[in-house]
Amino acid sequence: MRSPGRIARACLSRLASLAADPACPVCRASSAAKPLCEWCSLRLYANEAPHWSGSGAAVLDGIPGDGVAIESAFVHSGAAREMVHLLKFGGRRSLGRVAAGLILASSGERPGRGDLVVPVPLGSDRLRRRGYNQSRLVAAPLARMCGALHVDALRRDDRPPQVGLASEERRANLKGSFRAVRGRVPPGATCWIVDDVATTGATVSEAAEALLDAGAGAVRAITLTYRKLRPGCIIER
Ligand SMILES: [Zn+2]
Repeated sequence: MRSPGRIARACLSRLASLAADPACPVCRASSAAKPLCEWCSLRLYANEAPHWSGSGAAVLDGIPGDGVAIESAFVHSGAAREMVHLLKFGGRRSLGRVAAGLILASSGERPGRGDLVVPVPLGSDRLRRRGYNQSRLVAAPLARMCGALHVDALRRDDRPPQVGLASEERRANLKGSFRAVRGRVPPGATCWIVDDVATTGATVSEAAEALLDAGAGAVRAITLTYRKLRPGCIIER
């Protein structure tokens, strides 16, 4: 049995750790609200309907298509957009766990026990430059929270960045860039691809094709945000 003195010390230690980082992980404002401050929580815009990575240029919203169903928790705007930028370019790695919690709190569908959670990989050059893969930082805690299995089942060739490309160019740029790692996809497994942002769904489509070729039985996708793009539109970072 723990002594009252030991319990008190544990409580003080817990309070001290809370007081040590009272800042919102996005805007860094001092806040007691968790996981984000009230202002940032108000700037999270839920993405209501799932969308599908279709075979055409545009993602189909709310209408089941012939591609992969993508559950994106938030519209690519406000605090969610800032989270993506901080994760990707700001080195704010601890946001991966925060993002995973927010995704699961807002998504209707989630990986089940024993499902595979597969982060979208970076090419080796980009991984070396960045030092980490932001999708992996979200996928690993997300899998833990669901009782699913985080598996780095994909590899990716280095290709020019997608930024600045129109929909059709994005698909052409990604074609055949993913391959599954031998032995990491059990036959018939349900795989959940995890990425930070979905735009046209081209990345998800390519990653799903590699997983299905390796023997996956079903593929779904989860992203933190959905950046809606009209066909032919050029995106900026
Ligand atoms: Zn904030």
